Amino acid sequence: METVFSKIIRREIPATIVYEDDLSLAFLDIFPKAPVHVLIIPKKPIESLEHVQEEDLPLIAHLFSVVKKVAAQTGVAESGYRIAINCGKEGGQEVPHLHLHLMGGKQL
Ligand code: 5GP
Repeated sequence: METVFSKIIRREIPATIVYEDDLSLAFLDIFPKAPVHVLIIPKKPIESLEHVQEEDLPLIAHLFSVVKKVAAQTGVAESGYRIAINCGKEGGQEVPHLHLHLMGGKQL
């Protein structure tokens, strides 16, 4: 599904990208809810956690390795951070492209 995140991946709209590899992209949330608030997404346009297939599980594991890299890079690895994945309407998911919120830099 085409979303604002597809456009960020293709550099059609600007974002502050903090990490990128072949499979994933991490960028600052435009409306940060913590001093550190990074969105980590697969480049593959998976709509939500509910749309993850068995074949995607290595990709999901990869996203968690990216979490650790971004946590170290943004200085929250030791102080601690929260990972949130909103799923579906009542889960508060606004953008239908799977994403992990990495938040930290204050007591949550
Ligand atoms: P959700 O509510 O779907 O879990 O989270 C979507 C997140 O994407 C929100 O925290 C929102 O601030 C962020 N967001 C929405 N549009 C953009 C955008 O164009 N650029 C960036 N960097 N973040 C966005």
